[in-house]
Amino acid sequence: MDIYVPPNVAAESALLEDYLRRKLKGNHRNFTDFRVDRRSIDARKTPVRMRLRIELFYNQKAPRETIQRTYLQVNNAPEVAIIGMGPAGLYTALSLLELGIRPVLFERGKTVRDRRRDLVRITRNEGVNPDSNYCFGEGGAGTYSDGKLYTRSKKRGDIQYAMETLVYHGADPDILVDAHPHIGTNKLPGIIENMRNTIVQYGGEVNFNARVTDLIVENGQLKGIKLGGEVRSFERVVLATGHSARDIFEMLHAGNVSLEFKPFALGVRIEHDQRVVDRVQYHCEVRDEFLPPASYKLVHQTHDRGVYSFCMCPGGVIAPCATADGEVVTNGWSPSKRNNPFANSGIVTEIRWEDIPEFHHHGPLAGIAFQSAVEQACCEIAGGTQFAPAQRVLDFVEGKDSPSLPECSYRPGIKPARLDQVLPLFVVKALQQGLRDFGGKMNGFLSNNALVVAPESRTSCPVRIPRDPESLQHPEVAGLFPCGEGAGYAGGIISAAMDGEKIARKCHEQMRATGLV
Ligand SMILES: Cc1cc2nc3c(=O)[nH]c(=O)nc-3n(C[C@H](O)[C@H](O)[C@H](O)COP(=O)(O)OP(=O)(O)OC[C@H]3O[C@@H](n4cnc5c(N)ncnc54)[C@H](O)[C@@H]3O)c2cc1C
Repeated sequence: MDIYVPPNVAAESALLEDYLRRKLKGNHRNFTDFRVDRRSIDARKTPVRMRLRIELFYNQKAPRETIQRTYLQVNNAPEVAIIGMGPAGLYTALSLLELGIRPVLFERGKTVRDRRRDLVRITRNEGVNPDSNYCFGEGGAGTYSDGKLYTRSKKRGDIQYAMETLVYHGADPDILVDAHPHIGTNKLPGIIENMRNTIVQYGGEVNFNARVTDLIVENGQLKGIKLGGEVRSFERVVLATGHSARDIFEMLHAGNVSLEFKPFALGVRIEHDQRVVDRVQYHCEVRDEFLPPASYKLVHQTHDRGVYSFCMCPGGVIAPCATADGEVVTNGWSPSKRNNPFANSGIVTEIRWEDIPEFHHHGPLAGIAFQSAVEQACCEIAGGTQFAPAQRVLDFVEGKDSPSLPECSYRPGIKPARLDQVLPLFVVKALQQGLRDFGGKMNGFLSNNALVVAPESRTSCPVRIPRDPESLQHPEVAGLFPCGEGAGYAGGIISAAMDGEKIARKCHEQMRATGLV
């Protein structure tokens, strides 16, 4: 049964029960218990209401479903190596435990706790550790994020399984009910730690500060990996190193392991006062205290090129996501309460092979070379540190200087700059048109009280590591399983997690066929 209720009623169980008893007719009122199975915001009209899917129970309590996982003790089981402990690598490992295979994980970065010190150093402008930053370290790129858990994937069963695994490891069960669930930067690290504890408890191996530098391949069969001078032998390796592991792409390319260019997205991060977004989305002067800070999703088609908002973080902060000194990269995060005063989002446009002819000599790595060039130009124009170049939104659209800038959440800080001098012209034109259109859709969006900060360049991976559709292994390297976002098969936490599960099942299938398990 779907009902529409005021936000305060949706927020409090006693009020909701009272509401149901008053509104329901006849015998329906005599329920003994109820459960909310789905929760979303209906902001189409004023006043904004919550839409709830309610299940009623008669003569019984609502069943409490506990999530079960059957992890097996794998200390002496056959092994699979996993490179990278982002969602793809972690979910591969957890699924292997269920299948009786021992995961051996290698992560170039530090534990989720130790990683924090390096993030603080970045925000203090004390330099970027190339192995420990917003993209690298336990938990991967999504650890210090908004933790939005939406995916465009349609595989409901797999999505549910991935979400339940988060709840099993400590996420709020509300993520299984909310239409747009998110976890928040403050809560994700604890969940990641719990996942690692599961892996270790059941006999898996976890190695930090363990940057894989090469693969050992003999006659098209994977034989092992190199960590600097150290060699470890494995017949199966899951490569889940994410979209920022440029050294991995270069290593594969240098070793003649084929890669493909993949279209990707690039643009800017925009930041508004959260109240501007609340006002438009909730049609009010002040947001109801029981409504969450509002979000938006915008799309515009300019000629043949799309411009769209990406990874919107209500009540969030713009994050410095470079993986090396000499480059600037932005992204965004929010705490679980999304209670910062700003709303930020990527505003990006698609970059295709034909857009970047001057980078074609880099072959399949052309997109990376283009990304790097933009990131370096942004760093240079803002002074060569982790300060980011920024402009007022209307000034950017009208091609004018912004001599001063409003307050911004990005740390270490921003410098006024003409973004049309650091972004390619076709990107600038597309973004300007898109922002004009968004200004028509959302009052206050196109305003000099808002900022654009550049660049938003790591929204998606510019490379695909090919894999055979049946065996999910690299067509030229038996035993190499490219996985997750860096391999080009996912975009976001949940889709990377689902790809990890898929790869684990495929490893198991293959090992069973050869009598190993
Ligand atoms: C600030 C920020 C906010 C984000 N917000 C969201 C969000 O709200 N929702 C969402 O769905 N997505 C979000 N994303 C994107 C999301 O994080 C990624 O899509 C997801 O993490 C991809 O998972 P992955 O496991 O494929 O790769 P990654 O998470 O990138 O993990 C790759 C791992 O491999 C390790 N590694 C790399 N090279 C090596 C090597 N040579 N040896 C050993 N280890 C190596 C890295 O250190 C890293 O831990 C955000 C990303 C960022 C940066």
